[in-house]
Amino acid sequence: MSRNITDEQWKAIIENNKEYDDQFFYAVKTTKVFCRPSCKSRVPNYNNVTIFDRAEDALQAGYRPCKRCKPGGYHLPDEEWVWQIETFIKENYTTHLTLRVIAEGCHGSPFHLHRVFKNRKGMTPIEYLQRKRIEKAMKYLLETNWSIRRIGELIGLPNPSHFATLFKKYTKQTPREFRKRKRSEVLIDEHLLWNDKA
Ligand SMILES: [Zn+2]
Repeated sequence: MSRNITDEQWKAIIENNKEYDDQFFYAVKTTKVFCRPSCKSRVPNYNNVTIFDRAEDALQAGYRPCKRCKPGGYHLPDEEWVWQIETFIKENYTTHLTLRVIAEGCHGSPFHLHRVFKNRKGMTPIEYLQRKRIEKAMKYLLETNWSIRRIGELIGLPNPSHFATLFKKYTKQTPREFRKRKRSEVLIDEHLLWNDKA
């Protein structure tokens, strides 16, 4: 059964108090992860916390066990953890993300997270993050007239030269070149279309 959090429980979570382990579990709405009170993961936002008496109840309610504290003895399979990490990156790529921030958000040590992710995906979490950003930048460059600076800010790369360097690393051209070339390709296509009709 789930219930609202008491002051005593909240205190136990903040203090990572081991004495409360197995007395209750806390689940966090935003991450869909549940933990033991003693878990060393970052203290969640109070308003997002739901309390469960039993680990089974949290599972039933759709929460996944924390990779770090293994609540109720439940292990999160690596595959699911990688999925959790991907989701976290997709939802937060617009912000300043580091391996440490990702690891905190996904309940694991940076080292462990990096290794597991790389084994499964063939790229590091940071590479995955940058690819997501560049993918989004390409879309904005093609579909909007927003400045390159603005697009960089929107994808979490507010430093324009850093953005340009990274963009070039993945696409072999600068954001400006990409936009120009792609647009002229569209123009050429339209030109052919009109010639055909003539
Ligand atoms: Zn935990």
